[in-house]
Amino acid sequence: MALIEALNIKKYFPTQGGHLVKAVDDVSFSIASGETVGMVGESGCGKSTIGRVIMNLIEPTDGRLLYDDRNIYELAKAERRALRRKMGIVFQDPYSSLNPRMNVLQIVGEPLTVHRKLRGARLREEVVRLLEQVGLKPEHINRYPHQFSGGQRQRIGIARALALGPKFLILDEPTSALDVSVQAQVLNLIKKLQAAQDLTYLFITHDLNVVRHIADRVMVMYLGKLVEEGSVIDIFKRPLHPYTQALLSANPKIDPNLRGERTLLEGDVPSPADPPPGCSFHTRCPIAEDQCRKIEPELRLVSDRRISCHLV
Ligand code: SF4
Repeated sequence: MALIEALNIKKYFPTQGGHLVKAVDDVSFSIASGETVGMVGESGCGKSTIGRVIMNLIEPTDGRLLYDDRNIYELAKAERRALRRKMGIVFQDPYSSLNPRMNVLQIVGEPLTVHRKLRGARLREEVVRLLEQVGLKPEHINRYPHQFSGGQRQRIGIARALALGPKFLILDEPTSALDVSVQAQVLNLIKKLQAAQDLTYLFITHDLNVVRHIADRVMVMYLGKLVEEGSVIDIFKRPLHPYTQALLSANPKIDPNLRGERTLLEGDVPSPADPPPGCSFHTRCPIAEDQCRKIEPELRLVSDRRISCHLV
């Protein structure tokens, strides 16, 4: 059963020049309870904006968001706040996402003080329990962010995200600021916590190796739109959308057999304030045809995956 359902989510930002930046343009998906869904794409494709819309950090321009079948935007304020506690977010950069003037007790304990009114010994006890869950020690409680390594700081961020006992976590590039060896430790922790606490994840990243390691399903975004979605096994074995093919072939670590047939993506991602007509990928697609420049392909079901391309 779906825990999260995003239906036709749009998020447009007006620019000073009178244009609209379509950061997210009519994106729908669902995430089942206990599942890990990876969301990939180059920077500016809208994946982090989707994360912030789901977390209620920004309002969408249009669309519906269901949590456990309840439309978040139709809930009263108090209900919305209660629902918000069932979701957590871990940000990319543990260096800037933790307040340098707060110690670990204050950082991890803040949501517990605000939402559960915990204070004193009870608060300390709960923070120590959270620190131990993420592999930190009780004596870390009085230290400040600058006294930790990058991996430890990310563990503090995860402990804070877990403070209110969420069911759903958004992990927004949680390992991309870390060294490779530390990345693996943090990914293993994320997997271990999921198994122990029955968590559901949306894992946002540009790193395909990470998605293959951690996700059950993957959604590929391009210029604010979902262009391909399917199981990790299917998509990594046989990507169908030309953009997914290019992303995978640009990363030979994924499959050494693909080394001989690399598709290099030429040019930059077009501006979302002025997206190309037709298929938004046509300016970089190696197999674009005439119709691609005029008609926008629909996202449709092909076998077990969704894909938007005229030629698939
Ligand atoms: Fe390429 Fe055309 Fe498919 Fe777009 S619709 S991905 S331009 S082939």
